[in-house]
Amino acid sequence: MKAFVWGVLGVLTGVLAPVAEAASSAVVLMYHRFGESEYPSTNTTVEQLDAHIAELTSGAYTVMALDDIVAELNAGEALPDRTVGLSIDDGYRSIYSLAWPRFKAAGLPFTVFIATGHIDRRSSRHLSWDQIREMRDAGVDFGHHTVSHLHMPKASAPRIAKEIADAHGRFETELGFRPKLFAYPYGEASLSVAAAIKAAGFSAAFGQHSGVIGSTGDMYFLPRFAMNETYGDLGRLRLAINALPLRVKDVTPPDHTITAANPPAMGFTVVGNMGDLKRLSCYLSHAGRGELIILDIDVQGAKQVRTSMPDAFMLFILPPSDEELRRATQDLCFKLARFVTNGSER
Ligand SMILES: [Zn+2]
Repeated sequence: MKAFVWGVLGVLTGVLAPVAEAASSAVVLMYHRFGESEYPSTNTTVEQLDAHIAELTSGAYTVMALDDIVAELNAGEALPDRTVGLSIDDGYRSIYSLAWPRFKAAGLPFTVFIATGHIDRRSSRHLSWDQIREMRDAGVDFGHHTVSHLHMPKASAPRIAKEIADAHGRFETELGFRPKLFAYPYGEASLSVAAAIKAAGFSAAFGQHSGVIGSTGDMYFLPRFAMNETYGDLGRLRLAINALPLRVKDVTPPDHTITAANPPAMGFTVVGNMGDLKRLSCYLSHAGRGELIILDIDVQGAKQVRTSMPDAFMLFILPPSDEELRRATQDLCFKLARFVTNGSER
Protein backbone atom coordinates (compact mmCIF):
# COMPACT_ATOMS: atom_id res chain seq x y z
CA MET A 1 0.00 0.00 0.00
CA LYS A 2 1.52 3.24 -1.06
CA ALA A 3 1.48 6.12 1.34
CA PHE A 4 -0.40 9.16 0.19
CA VAL A 5 -0.31 12.63 1.59
CA TRP A 6 -2.02 15.85 0.75
CA GLY A 7 -0.08 18.53 -0.99
CA VAL A 8 -0.73 22.13 -1.66
CA LEU A 9 0.29 23.81 -4.85
CA GLY A 10 0.11 27.47 -4.65
CA VAL A 11 -0.49 29.70 -1.72
CA LEU A 12 0.11 33.08 -3.17
CA THR A 13 0.00 35.89 -0.72
CA GLY A 14 0.47 39.37 -1.92
CA VAL A 15 -1.33 42.19 -3.24
CA LEU A 16 -2.17 42.28 -6.50
CA ALA A 17 -5.75 42.32 -7.18
CA PRO A 18 -7.53 45.54 -7.93
CA VAL A 19 -10.57 46.24 -5.78
CA ALA A 20 -12.91 45.06 -8.51
CA GLU A 21 -11.51 41.55 -8.02
CA ALA A 22 -13.39 41.37 -4.75
CA ALA A 23 -16.70 41.33 -6.58
CA SER A 24 -17.27 37.60 -6.56
CA SER A 25 -15.05 36.20 -3.89
CA ALA A 26 -15.57 35.02 -0.33
CA VAL A 27 -13.56 33.49 2.47
CA VAL A 28 -14.91 30.57 4.48
CA LEU A 29 -13.45 29.69 7.87
CA MET A 30 -13.40 26.13 9.19
CA TYR A 31 -13.49 25.34 12.89
CA HIS A 32 -13.69 21.99 14.68
CA ARG A 33 -13.59 22.16 18.50
CA PHE A 34 -13.88 24.95 21.06
CA GLY A 35 -12.32 25.10 24.52
CA GLU A 36 -10.89 21.59 24.15
CA SER A 37 -7.20 22.32 24.56
CA GLU A 38 -6.27 18.65 24.67
CA TYR A 39 -6.75 18.76 20.89
CA PRO A 40 -4.77 21.87 19.89
CA SER A 41 -4.58 21.01 16.18
CA THR A 42 -8.35 21.17 15.84
CA ASN A 43 -9.27 23.35 18.81
CA THR A 44 -10.03 27.05 19.04
CA THR A 45 -9.80 28.53 22.51
CA VAL A 46 -12.72 30.50 23.89
CA GLU A 47 -10.49 33.58 23.99
CA GLN A 48 -9.63 33.13 20.31
CA LEU A 49 -13.29 32.61 19.43
CA ASP A 50 -14.32 35.77 21.26
CA ALA A 51 -11.57 37.71 19.44
CA HIS A 52 -12.73 36.29 16.09
CA ILE A 53 -16.34 37.28 16.76
CA ALA A 54 -15.27 40.78 17.78
CA GLU A 55 -13.32 41.14 14.51
CA LEU A 56 -16.11 39.65 12.37
CA THR A 57 -18.67 42.04 13.90
CA SER A 58 -16.41 45.11 13.66
CA GLY A 59 -18.28 46.36 10.60
CA ALA A 60 -15.53 45.60 8.09
CA TYR A 61 -16.97 42.26 6.99
CA THR A 62 -20.21 40.77 5.71
CA VAL A 63 -20.78 37.39 7.34
CA MET A 64 -23.24 35.37 5.26
CA ALA A 65 -24.71 31.89 5.55
CA LEU A 66 -22.79 29.42 3.39
CA ASP A 67 -25.82 28.49 1.32
CA ASP A 68 -26.44 32.17 0.57
CA ILE A 69 -22.82 32.61 -0.52
CA VAL A 70 -23.09 29.54 -2.75
CA ALA A 71 -26.43 30.70 -4.20
CA GLU A 72 -25.02 34.14 -5.05
CA LEU A 73 -21.93 32.63 -6.68
CA ASN A 74 -23.99 30.10 -8.65
CA ALA A 75 -26.24 32.93 -9.81
CA GLY A 76 -23.26 34.99 -10.89
CA GLU A 77 -24.16 37.72 -8.42
CA ALA A 78 -21.51 39.97 -6.89
CA LEU A 79 -20.89 39.40 -3.20
CA PRO A 80 -20.13 42.26 -0.82
CA ASP A 81 -16.44 43.04 -0.37
CA ARG A 82 -14.95 40.98 2.47
CA THR A 83 -17.70 38.38 2.51
CA VAL A 84 -17.03 35.70 5.12
CA GLY A 85 -18.70 32.34 5.76
CA LEU A 86 -18.40 30.23 8.91
CA SER A 87 -18.29 26.44 9.09
CA ILE A 88 -17.68 23.91 11.83
CA ASP A 89 -16.82 20.30 10.98
CA ASP A 90 -17.61 17.02 12.73
CA GLY A 91 -20.28 18.06 15.22
CA TYR A 92 -18.40 18.08 18.49
CA ARG A 93 -20.45 18.95 21.58
CA SER A 94 -18.45 22.10 22.29
CA ILE A 95 -20.27 23.63 19.32
CA TYR A 96 -23.46 23.47 21.35
CA SER A 97 -21.97 24.51 24.69
CA LEU A 98 -19.47 27.20 23.65
CA ALA A 99 -19.67 28.28 20.01
CA TRP A 100 -23.41 28.42 19.34
CA PRO A 101 -24.27 30.74 22.27
CA ARG A 102 -21.57 33.16 21.15
CA PHE A 103 -22.36 33.10 17.43
CA LYS A 104 -26.07 33.41 18.24
CA ALA A 105 -25.54 36.43 20.49
CA ALA A 106 -23.44 38.05 17.76
CA GLY A 107 -26.02 37.28 15.07
CA LEU A 108 -23.53 35.27 12.99
CA PRO A 109 -24.82 32.40 10.80
CA PHE A 110 -22.83 29.19 10.50
CA THR A 111 -23.01 25.69 9.02
CA VAL A 112 -22.09 22.48 10.87
CA PHE A 113 -20.94 19.55 8.72
CA ILE A 114 -21.76 16.28 10.47
CA ALA A 115 -20.92 12.65 9.75
CA THR A 116 -24.22 11.04 10.72
CA GLY A 117 -22.56 7.89 12.02
CA HIS A 118 -20.74 9.96 14.64
CA ILE A 119 -24.01 11.41 15.88
CA ASP A 120 -25.68 7.99 15.85
CA ARG A 121 -22.99 6.60 18.15
CA ARG A 122 -24.47 8.82 20.89
CA SER A 123 -21.10 9.55 22.43
CA SER A 124 -20.77 12.42 24.86
CA ARG A 125 -18.13 13.95 22.56
CA HIS A 126 -20.58 14.70 19.78
CA LEU A 127 -23.82 16.60 19.42
CA SER A 128 -27.03 14.67 19.95
CA TRP A 129 -29.84 14.77 17.40
CA ASP A 130 -31.92 16.67 19.98
CA GLN A 131 -29.22 19.34 20.23
CA ILE A 132 -28.98 19.46 16.44
CA ARG A 133 -32.76 19.92 16.16
CA GLU A 134 -32.66 22.70 18.75
CA MET A 135 -29.90 24.46 16.82
CA ARG A 136 -31.67 23.88 13.47
CA ASP A 137 -34.86 25.40 14.85
CA ALA A 138 -32.84 28.47 15.84
CA GLY A 139 -31.47 28.84 12.30
CA VAL A 140 -28.20 26.88 12.34
CA ASP A 141 -27.50 25.09 9.04
CA PHE A 142 -26.29 21.50 8.83
CA GLY A 143 -24.33 19.95 5.98
CA HIS A 144 -23.39 16.47 4.77
CA HIS A 145 -20.03 14.97 5.81
CA THR A 146 -20.78 11.31 4.92
CA VAL A 147 -21.82 8.63 7.44
CA SER A 148 -18.43 7.34 8.51
CA HIS A 149 -16.11 10.28 7.77
CA LEU A 150 -14.97 8.37 4.70
CA HIS A 151 -11.63 8.71 2.91
CA MET A 152 -13.48 9.31 -0.35
CA PRO A 153 -10.74 9.11 -3.03
CA LYS A 154 -9.88 5.60 -1.81
CA ALA A 155 -13.50 4.44 -1.71
CA SER A 156 -15.37 2.62 -4.49
CA ALA A 157 -18.15 4.36 -6.38
CA PRO A 158 -20.83 2.10 -4.80
CA ARG A 159 -19.45 2.81 -1.31
CA ILE A 160 -19.53 6.56 -1.95
CA ALA A 161 -23.09 6.32 -3.28
CA LYS A 162 -24.15 4.33 -0.21
CA GLU A 163 -22.57 6.81 2.21
CA ILE A 164 -24.32 9.70 0.49
CA ALA A 165 -27.69 7.92 0.44
CA ASP A 166 -27.46 6.56 3.99
CA ALA A 167 -26.55 9.93 5.48
CA HIS A 168 -29.35 11.56 3.48
CA GLY A 169 -31.70 9.02 5.03
CA ARG A 170 -30.56 9.89 8.53
CA PHE A 171 -30.91 13.63 7.84
CA GLU A 172 -34.43 13.11 6.51
CA THR A 173 -35.45 10.92 9.43
CA GLU A 174 -33.99 13.13 12.16
CA LEU A 175 -34.25 16.61 10.64
CA GLY A 176 -36.67 16.36 7.76
CA PHE A 177 -34.40 17.61 5.01
CA ARG A 178 -31.48 16.70 2.75
CA PRO A 179 -28.46 18.99 3.02
CA LYS A 180 -27.49 20.96 -0.08
CA LEU A 181 -23.88 21.51 1.02
CA PHE A 182 -21.16 18.87 1.36
CA ALA A 183 -17.74 18.88 3.03
CA TYR A 184 -15.20 16.23 2.05
CA PRO A 185 -13.89 14.37 5.12
CA TYR A 186 -10.21 15.25 5.60
CA GLY A 187 -10.68 17.67 2.69
CA GLU A 188 -9.93 14.79 0.32
CA ALA A 189 -11.44 14.89 -3.14
CA SER A 190 -10.74 13.82 -6.70
CA LEU A 191 -12.40 14.54 -10.01
CA SER A 192 -14.49 11.39 -9.78
CA VAL A 193 -15.50 12.04 -6.17
CA ALA A 194 -16.44 15.63 -7.00
CA ALA A 195 -18.45 14.39 -9.98
CA ALA A 196 -20.34 12.01 -7.70
CA ILE A 197 -21.12 14.82 -5.27
CA LYS A 198 -22.34 17.05 -8.08
CA ALA A 199 -24.45 14.24 -9.55
CA ALA A 200 -26.00 13.62 -6.12
CA GLY A 201 -27.49 17.10 -6.28
CA PHE A 202 -25.34 19.07 -3.85
CA SER A 203 -25.02 22.75 -4.73
CA ALA A 204 -21.38 22.98 -3.62
CA ALA A 205 -18.69 21.04 -1.77
CA PHE A 206 -15.87 22.22 0.47
CA GLY A 207 -12.33 20.97 0.97
CA GLN A 208 -10.02 22.14 3.72
CA HIS A 209 -7.22 23.74 1.75
CA SER A 210 -6.52 27.39 2.47
CA GLY A 211 -7.66 29.82 -0.15
CA VAL A 212 -10.26 32.28 -1.35
CA ILE A 213 -13.45 31.18 -3.04
CA GLY A 214 -13.59 32.73 -6.48
CA SER A 215 -10.16 31.70 -7.74
CA THR A 216 -11.07 28.89 -10.09
CA GLY A 217 -14.85 28.84 -10.35
CA ASP A 218 -14.92 25.19 -9.22
CA MET A 219 -17.91 24.94 -6.85
CA TYR A 220 -17.13 21.32 -5.91
CA PHE A 221 -13.72 21.86 -4.33
CA LEU A 222 -14.10 25.13 -2.46
CA PRO A 223 -11.26 26.19 -0.15
CA ARG A 224 -11.59 27.05 3.53
CA PHE A 225 -9.14 28.53 6.00
CA ALA A 226 -8.72 26.17 8.97
CA MET A 227 -8.69 27.87 12.35
CA ASN A 228 -7.03 26.26 15.36
CA GLU A 229 -4.92 27.19 18.36
CA THR A 230 -1.70 27.47 16.35
CA TYR A 231 -3.21 29.18 13.32
CA GLY A 232 -6.00 31.06 15.00
CA ASP A 233 -4.57 34.31 16.29
CA LEU A 234 -6.03 37.62 15.22
CA GLY A 235 -3.25 38.25 12.70
CA ARG A 236 -3.93 35.06 10.79
CA LEU A 237 -7.67 35.59 10.99
CA ARG A 238 -7.27 39.04 9.45
CA LEU A 239 -4.93 37.68 6.77
CA ALA A 240 -7.53 35.09 5.84
CA ILE A 241 -10.66 37.23 5.86
CA ASN A 242 -9.06 40.13 3.99
CA ALA A 243 -7.66 37.87 1.29
CA LEU A 244 -8.52 38.25 -2.36
CA PRO A 245 -8.39 35.45 -4.92
CA LEU A 246 -5.63 34.84 -7.41
CA ARG A 247 -7.70 34.04 -10.45
CA VAL A 248 -6.29 31.06 -12.31
CA LYS A 249 -7.22 28.60 -15.02
CA ASP A 250 -5.62 25.58 -16.70
CA VAL A 251 -4.75 24.09 -13.33
CA THR A 252 -2.44 21.15 -13.98
CA PRO A 253 -2.96 18.36 -13.14
CA PRO A 254 -6.72 18.83 -13.05
CA ASP A 255 -7.31 15.94 -10.65
CA HIS A 256 -6.53 16.57 -6.98
CA THR A 257 -5.70 12.92 -6.52
CA ILE A 258 -2.59 11.86 -8.39
CA THR A 259 -2.56 8.28 -9.59
CA ALA A 260 -0.01 8.38 -12.40
CA ALA A 261 2.88 10.51 -13.65
CA ASN A 262 4.19 11.16 -10.17
CA PRO A 263 5.54 13.75 -9.71
CA PRO A 264 3.31 15.39 -12.28
CA ALA A 265 3.95 18.61 -14.12
CA MET A 266 2.13 21.17 -12.02
CA GLY A 267 1.04 24.67 -12.70
CA PHE A 268 -1.66 27.09 -13.68
CA THR A 269 -2.35 30.10 -15.85
CA VAL A 270 -2.95 33.42 -14.16
CA VAL A 271 -6.06 35.16 -15.43
CA GLY A 272 -5.71 38.87 -15.98
CA ASN A 273 -3.13 41.18 -14.50
CA MET A 274 -2.15 40.08 -11.02
CA GLY A 275 0.96 42.22 -10.76
CA ASP A 276 4.56 41.13 -10.83
CA LEU A 277 4.63 37.35 -10.83
CA LYS A 278 8.40 37.39 -10.26
CA ARG A 279 7.49 37.92 -6.60
CA LEU A 280 5.92 34.50 -6.61
CA SER A 281 7.89 31.86 -4.74
CA CYS A 282 7.51 28.13 -4.65
CA TYR A 283 8.16 26.11 -1.49
CA LEU A 284 8.22 22.34 -1.20
CA SER A 285 7.45 20.80 2.15
CA HIS A 286 10.56 18.65 2.37
CA ALA A 287 12.86 20.33 -0.08
CA GLY A 288 12.72 24.03 0.65
CA ARG A 289 12.41 26.48 -2.17
CA GLY A 290 11.65 24.79 -5.45
CA GLU A 291 12.07 25.56 -9.08
CA LEU A 292 9.52 27.94 -10.48
CA ILE A 293 9.17 28.74 -14.13
CA ILE A 294 7.05 31.63 -15.26
CA LEU A 295 6.35 31.23 -18.93
CA ASP A 296 5.70 34.26 -21.02
CA ILE A 297 3.57 32.28 -23.38
CA ASP A 298 0.97 34.76 -24.41
CA VAL A 299 -2.38 33.08 -24.12
CA GLN A 300 -4.61 36.08 -24.62
CA GLY A 301 -2.32 38.03 -22.34
CA ALA A 302 -2.18 35.38 -19.62
CA LYS A 303 1.04 34.09 -18.10
CA GLN A 304 1.53 30.47 -17.29
CA VAL A 305 3.22 29.37 -14.07
CA ARG A 306 4.80 25.94 -14.08
CA THR A 307 7.06 24.12 -11.70
CA SER A 308 8.72 20.77 -11.23
CA MET A 309 7.37 18.87 -8.26
CA PRO A 310 9.86 16.68 -6.40
CA ASP A 311 7.78 16.29 -3.25
CA ALA A 312 4.28 16.35 -1.97
CA PHE A 313 3.71 19.68 -0.37
CA MET A 314 4.41 22.98 -1.97
CA LEU A 315 3.45 26.55 -1.41
CA PHE A 316 3.69 29.61 -3.53
CA ILE A 317 4.13 32.66 -1.40
CA LEU A 318 4.07 36.20 -2.60
CA PRO A 319 4.93 38.63 0.17
CA PRO A 320 2.58 41.56 0.57
CA SER A 321 3.87 44.91 -0.53
CA ASP A 322 4.01 47.81 1.88
CA GLU A 323 1.65 50.09 0.05
CA GLU A 324 -1.23 47.68 -0.15
CA LEU A 325 -3.06 45.95 2.63
CA ARG A 326 -5.14 43.49 0.74
CA ARG A 327 -3.62 40.15 -0.04
CA ALA A 328 -4.22 37.74 -2.84
CA THR A 329 -4.17 34.20 -1.66
CA GLN A 330 -4.56 31.09 -3.65
CA ASP A 331 -3.74 27.56 -3.10
CA LEU A 332 -4.53 24.58 -5.16
CA CYS A 333 -4.57 21.28 -3.43
CA PHE A 334 -3.30 18.05 -4.84
CA LYS A 335 -3.02 14.64 -3.41
CA LEU A 336 0.34 13.17 -4.30
CA ALA A 337 2.25 10.04 -3.63
CA ARG A 338 5.29 10.86 -1.57
CA PHE A 339 8.29 10.93 -3.82
CA VAL A 340 11.97 11.10 -3.20
CA THR A 341 14.73 12.11 -5.55
CA ASN A 342 15.71 8.58 -6.47
CA GLY A 343 12.15 7.91 -7.46
CA SER A 344 11.26 5.36 -4.80
CA GLU A 345 8.29 5.59 -2.48
CA ARG A 346 8.85 6.40 1.17
ZN1 LIG B 1 -14.44 16.08 9.35
